[in-house]
Amino acid sequence: MESISALSKKLSDYLDPKKVKQINKAYDFACEAHSGQYRSSGDPYVTHPIAVASILGNFRMDEDSLTAAMLHDVMEDSGIPKSVIEKKFNKEVANLVDGVSKLNTLTISSKTESQAENLQKMVLAMSKDIRVIVVKLADRLHNMRTLLYLDREKQLRIAKETLEIYAPIAHRIGMNNLYRELEDLAFKTIYPTRYERLIAAVKKNRGGQKRLLNKIEKEMSDRLLKEGIASLVEGREKHIYSIYRKMKERRRSFEEIMDVYAIKIIVDTPENCYRTLGHIHNMYKPVRGRFKDYIAIPKSNGYQSIHTGVIALKGIPIEIQIKTQEMNDMAENGIASHWLYKSGNNSDSSPQIKARRWVAGLLEMRENYETTEEFINSVKTDIFPDEIYVFTPQGEVIEMPNGSTAIDFAYAVHTDIGHHCRACRINKKLAPLSVPLESGQTIEILRDTVPQTSPAWLNFATTTKARHSIRNYLGNLKSSEARKFGKKLLEQSLNNLNIKLKNVDKDKLRGALDSIGGRSLNRILKEIGLGIRVANVVARQIAGFVNKDSEIESDSAIPLEITGSEGLVVNYAPCCKPIPGDSVMGHFTADKGLVVHQERCKNILSFRKDPQQCFPVNWGESSGKVFTSQIKIMANDEPGLLANIASAITETGTNISSIQTTDLNSGIHDFVLDLEVSDRLHLSKIIKKIKTLKSIASVSRIHDQEERQAKVLH
Ligand code: MN
Repeated sequence: MESISALSKKLSDYLDPKKVKQINKAYDFACEAHSGQYRSSGDPYVTHPIAVASILGNFRMDEDSLTAAMLHDVMEDSGIPKSVIEKKFNKEVANLVDGVSKLNTLTISSKTESQAENLQKMVLAMSKDIRVIVVKLADRLHNMRTLLYLDREKQLRIAKETLEIYAPIAHRIGMNNLYRELEDLAFKTIYPTRYERLIAAVKKNRGGQKRLLNKIEKEMSDRLLKEGIASLVEGREKHIYSIYRKMKERRRSFEEIMDVYAIKIIVDTPENCYRTLGHIHNMYKPVRGRFKDYIAIPKSNGYQSIHTGVIALKGIPIEIQIKTQEMNDMAENGIASHWLYKSGNNSDSSPQIKARRWVAGLLEMRENYETTEEFINSVKTDIFPDEIYVFTPQGEVIEMPNGSTAIDFAYAVHTDIGHHCRACRINKKLAPLSVPLESGQTIEILRDTVPQTSPAWLNFATTTKARHSIRNYLGNLKSSEARKFGKKLLEQSLNNLNIKLKNVDKDKLRGALDSIGGRSLNRILKEIGLGIRVANVVARQIAGFVNKDSEIESDSAIPLEITGSEGLVVNYAPCCKPIPGDSVMGHFTADKGLVVHQERCKNILSFRKDPQQCFPVNWGESSGKVFTSQIKIMANDEPGLLANIASAITETGTNISSIQTTDLNSGIHDFVLDLEVSDRLHLSKIIKKIKTLKSIASVSRIHDQEERQAKVLH
């Protein structure tokens, strides 16, 4: 238990006396407000706010956050009005305490309250002032640390909520240390035996290697010291819950997870990061393709570090991160480290600028939106760009990839719910199963008593799980059922083209079937029913014959790189340049026929909702055709650079059809190359090969126009 004097002493390391005094004043205020109140542990209540403030002190948060931490429970537990806090302290402190209190009342009073609302409040509070969440997370951390004093039922509820809401938020805002501790504490509470067993297993596994690893760490720091670089070399273990999670998802066995050793090297300056890299590569054999320079090119969340992989003593593979203390703080404490460096002389470095821009962006968004709902949705997509969060009617959060539809949701909840799915309600309104979902929606799946699984669902099911389950189910259908399904679907698709299947001229139908390689109508219908062919495509092919378009005949000799495209004009979208191996979508246009786009292509986003226009297609067998793919290379300028790159590519038997180069005027060159490749494997071989060249900073494939333009702007 920390005393106020010990805390003050710690704070005076980085706050000036006037600011420490404000926190002391808050302590006196909290003492009085909480007098006579006790924690479940039997300690005076005020020990809790001290502990919360102390956690924030470790992050070196600013004085207003610490003051708010000290006062965070006085409104709720002692009925102190906001105006009093504003008068005694200041407006910012009052707003912070108010924000944290609002989150408190919500979680405490609402055992059955939906998580949906909790998450929404959380995001909203965060957007007003992100420090509210930082204080709240520190509060939750101390409560988790002292959870053992509560009864079992409360322990479980709080631990579960921590895993589902608080830990993910801590993770998203980059407070990784806090996130790991929250997860481990919650795991320990929910599954005490599993936790103990895993701890023991980790200890046993590491025991044997301990000496060797220590030796490697010492070898590294000795060498660096000799070279005049002061460093801190430390081994880093995965946290227990992440090991458990990985095992549970059955991605890897315990041994495989433990096989990876990670070492972090902290040095004083960015320049020394690069020098350290040189020495490490000189000491041990680097692993090809593992070097990544996130210092020159930080990750989008501002993360900076140099990554490499080496083979150390006795063939042990080691992953190494090299960074400065500031980069490390940013990686461990995320948004909280922003206040630490705000006023320092490092204030212009990019992670801080990015963090500030991010927070400023959130605030700006708040002002530009008319309704709260609209705002919450945007904030969510901003913070969780690749995932959407939707809710079951019971308020359970389901995380799904962006672009998922209600059918994906149904299968994500349970395979049986997927199969029996008949319709859905989105925010209580009936909606088609094919509509892409958005964050914050509540989805209710209406079920039938008999399975409804239809091949048509493959037109808009996007997650692997849903597609796999649907195919699996259809594969087990009887032929007669599949035919019936197929007929219904083909008739629907033909109807959309104003054609009645029964009116189609027999000879023309025969001709159409021949051209698409179907032996009989029944066979085609069955294939549609089983999801092997897409009804839309077959309907267009038949329509082509019925309307006898000369263009289609002359083009029918095109190699069939896309299965099911028989008889159709196939084009490859110039915007996203798909190559075999990419996930692709087909898009129908009146003048160009079937245009194949990458599934991720932004240009088809707006049609994806409409299965009549857009549907998944698959690559067929290789036809020897070459595809153009674009890559971007950034490299440090040196004599013969371009020649080296070109000859490395030519060595892989690849034709370069164009090269554009931009001199960035900073000693760094930027190249955009058009390459003729056969598929993804071919492309990845080329990229790997280029990466082995000296002075290459990065090599990446360009997927769309935006990325192409990004090269110029940087
Ligand atoms: Mn509290």
